[in-house]
Amino acid sequence: METDFYLSKVLIPLPVDETAPTIRIKGPEKISVAVGTKYTDDGVDAYDDRTETIVETNNTVDINTIGDYTITYTATDEHGNSSTATRLVSVVQPTGTIFLTFDDGPGPFTNTLLDILKKYNVPATFFVTGAGDDSLIKREFDEGHAIALHSYTHNYSYIYSSVANYYEDLANIQNRVTRITGQPSNLIRFPGGSSNTVSTRYDGRSHIMSFLTQDVLSHGYYYFDWNVNSGDADTASTSDAVYSNVINGLKVGGDSVVLQHDIKGYSVDAVERIIQYALEHGFIFSKLDNTSFSARHGVNN
Ligand SMILES: [Zn+2]
Repeated sequence: METDFYLSKVLIPLPVDETAPTIRIKGPEKISVAVGTKYTDDGVDAYDDRTETIVETNNTVDINTIGDYTITYTATDEHGNSSTATRLVSVVQPTGTIFLTFDDGPGPFTNTLLDILKKYNVPATFFVTGAGDDSLIKREFDEGHAIALHSYTHNYSYIYSSVANYYEDLANIQNRVTRITGQPSNLIRFPGGSSNTVSTRYDGRSHIMSFLTQDVLSHGYYYFDWNVNSGDADTASTSDAVYSNVINGLKVGGDSVVLQHDIKGYSVDAVERIIQYALEHGFIFSKLDNTSFSARHGVNN
C-alpha cells in the first residue's frame, strides 16, 4: 500500500512554478563610504523553494567619484521568476578621521585585535608597556601600526614620585621598542592621561604633570590624550557598552582619538563592530604621528 501511495504521489504533475525567489540584502540597505577608500559589497541572500537561483547585480559604485549609487540585485529561478532588491551606496567626503589607540598592551588579546585590523586594513596606534611578548610588538610594527610609548611599569606610585623616575621608566619602554622594531618612537601617552590627578598622591606636591607636559616637549616627544573614551578602564564592562561609548563619541567632521585597552578582551571584541559602523558611515582611519591632532586634556596637577 505504501508503494502505491508513493507512486501515485510522484505521478501528479507539479503545479506551474509562479513563485519568485526570496531575496534579502546582507548588511545595510543604505551606506556611506568615504571617497577614495575601498567598497566591498556584502551581496544578498537568495533562496527559491523549487530550483536553483541565479543572482545578478549591477554594481556600479565608483569609489573615486562622490555621488549616490544604487546597486540592484536580481534573483531569478529556473522558471524565469525573479525578485529584486536594492542598496543605496553614497560615496562621500570623509565623515571624519578615527585614530584607534590601544593602551597597556601587548597582551593575550593583541593577536585577535591585529587579525581584525588586518581584515579591514585599518591602521591603529599602540601605546605599549613592558608587558606581553616581544613578538606582539613586532607584529604590530610589521603590520604598519604606530608603536608609541606608554610606560614600562605603569606603576603610578613609581613613575609619578619624581621626574627622574618618570624618565627612567620612559627610557626603559623606549629601549624595549627600539630593540624590537629597530627604531625609537617619539609618541607618548602619560599613564592616566595628562589630566590625571592620581599623580598628586605621589609627587610630593610638586605638580609633576605641569612640569612633565612641558618638559617632554623639549625632549622631542609629542604626547597624546584622547577625545573619545571607550570607558573600558572604568564604567564600561561589556563589549556593548564599549561599542556604544565609542560610536556615540565619534566626532563628525573632525578627528576622533579613541581610547581603548587591548588587555581587555571585551573591549577588543567591540572593535570589529566599531570598524564596520565607521566604514558604513564614511569615516576613515589613520594612525598617530607627530603632526596628528593630539586631543590633549587640561592639566589638573
Ligand atoms: Zn594605561
